[in-house]
Amino acid sequence: MDLDFSPEDQAFRDDVRALIADAFPDGEVYDDRRTHRDRWRLAMASKGWAVNKWPVAFGGPGWSPSQNFIWERETTSAGLPPQIPGMGVGMLAPILFGYGSKAQQDRFLPDIREDRVVWCQGYSEPGSGSDLASLRTKAVRQGDVYTVDGEKVWTSGAHLADWMFCLTRTSTESRPQAGITFLLIDMKSPGIEVKPIISIDGRHAFNRVTFDNVQVPVANRIGLEGEGWTYAKGLLTHERTGQAYVSMSMTLLSNIKRAAAALSGSCGGSLLEDPGFASRLRWAEIELEALEMTEMRTLWEVAAGTAPGAQSSMLKLKGTDIVQRMTEFFVECAGPYGAPWLPVIDHPQDRPQPDAIGPDWARREIARYYEARAASIAGGTDEIQRNIIAKHVLRL
Ligand SMILES: Cc1cc2nc3c(=O)[nH]c(=O)nc-3n(C[C@H](O)[C@H](O)[C@H](O)COP(=O)(O)OP(=O)(O)OC[C@H]3O[C@@H](n4cnc5c(N)ncnc54)[C@H](O)[C@@H]3O)c2cc1C
Repeated sequence: MDLDFSPEDQAFRDDVRALIADAFPDGEVYDDRRTHRDRWRLAMASKGWAVNKWPVAFGGPGWSPSQNFIWERETTSAGLPPQIPGMGVGMLAPILFGYGSKAQQDRFLPDIREDRVVWCQGYSEPGSGSDLASLRTKAVRQGDVYTVDGEKVWTSGAHLADWMFCLTRTSTESRPQAGITFLLIDMKSPGIEVKPIISIDGRHAFNRVTFDNVQVPVANRIGLEGEGWTYAKGLLTHERTGQAYVSMSMTLLSNIKRAAAALSGSCGGSLLEDPGFASRLRWAEIELEALEMTEMRTLWEVAAGTAPGAQSSMLKLKGTDIVQRMTEFFVECAGPYGAPWLPVIDHPQDRPQPDAIGPDWARREIARYYEARAASIAGGTDEIQRNIIAKHVLRL
């Protein structure tokens, strides 16, 4: 593994910075509005980078691991998503590359690449989260159609989605993993009902989705009947490799340092010079640097053709721990503004300068990232990652 960036890599980094500066002049912050999404996607597309993690055969740029690394760092520290947001581009597309038919690739990939269709993930069910293989949503085949009945839960963005990639049970005869089938379901199909789950922060991100006699063409099945578990498991491993949050933690770290340098500590100097705070922050920084090396090593190994395996669980587990510690430092910096009911104390006429520690700062820096608390549950809980490590690395 070569940790020094070559002159080509440095030139690539300059290109990336120029693209970002052109797309968002004056350092305007990307905020996921449709206009911003389109502007960023078109900017990436103008260089052939819109689907930067896709294989060359499907329109990806074929970057080296170091180019991927540079891209991730530069976009994240500018507050931009490293790829088109959503579950189509990063989660469904790799399954279509590996297991979709040519007809399915031709039908679904262009809409994902152009950000025209929103996808959601229908895996978890009441009673089947960590123990996903116990899922019960039933799909019964008759001729060219499956009839789907059952319920999914915690389905992020289902209320905005056009399509769902969904795990269904087509057989109970063998071990649970063997009877699972991967279907693509049009969310406009009669018999689908999406009910909101409002989370503690008042947001509507999750849903409960019920299926009552929903008709799904067999042409929308990925791969073979009963093989869906294999496809879904491969996807989860790759999903977790991407959940080390290194770039996000680095951005947070530099913001924390800036904020703490401007705040008073308990020993006369700034908070950043406070021995207790400084030592905890430095320790987190050292762990982040170690995680960065591990992530780079994994990326190089994946590029060389090695499947990430249990390493992806280690990255997710440690990355989640560090990013959550970073958000806690923010709350410490925000003091009373870290309290949860910011809108109540936020009177527009009292707003301080954007960079002063106050309600605006707290909303921007804390509220935006604090949902990283959920990272130790989403995509497989911490305990499940530890089980995987115990089984595959420690051989317990
Ligand atoms: C932000 C977020 C977004 C999500 N988005 C989606 C989505 O879009 N689509 C989707 O399908 N799902 C989604 N989920 C659901 C997520 O996949 C599940 O919450 C997760 O798999 C855990 O399942 P569960 O909630 O049923 O908890 P459970 O499996 O019931 O676990 C409860 C507790 O028991 C522990 N536990 C369970 N089994 C074991 C074991 N064998 N050993 C040790 N401890 C164990 C767990 O670690 C946890 O602490 C999302 C979750 C979050 C937080």
